[in-house]
Amino acid sequence: MSTSLLYHAFGIRGYQYQSTRYHAGGMTIRIAQARESLCCPTCGSREVRIVERFERRWRAVPIGSRETWIELSVPKVKCQTCFARRRVRVSFSEPRRQHTRAFERYVAELLRFMTQQDVSRHEQALNVGQLVELV
Ligand SMILES: [Zn+2]
Repeated sequence: MSTSLLYHAFGIRGYQYQSTRYHAGGMTIRIAQARESLCCPTCGSREVRIVERFERRWRAVPIGSRETWIELSVPKVKCQTCFARRRVRVSFSEPRRQHTRAFERYVAELLRFMTQQDVSRHEQALNVGQLVELV
């Protein structure tokens, strides 16, 4: 999968494609963020040092009827400028969400034509129930 496809299909820019894992009913696309693109989430300085990493995954727009997940090791950095220690921001999702912005738009689009119950039924395999309440 190309970086271009990551952007056009999933709205993910600034990350590199690593691998795809297939599992029952879906797939997980692993991406990575280049070390040189990391910056302090507090002051924006690029003078940061990785102190820890957190494995995270987000629900993404499905491919066909397969649920699709994005997986990323999110660094926690220590800023050499302002001394903050925080996880870096993820550009394709709102903080503390478990889905991408593109997935949120996808559900919002479905809700234009379907009831919440229809969307829930249609997307039951895609586990969209929580998101319907958020949109
Ligand atoms: Zn800083």
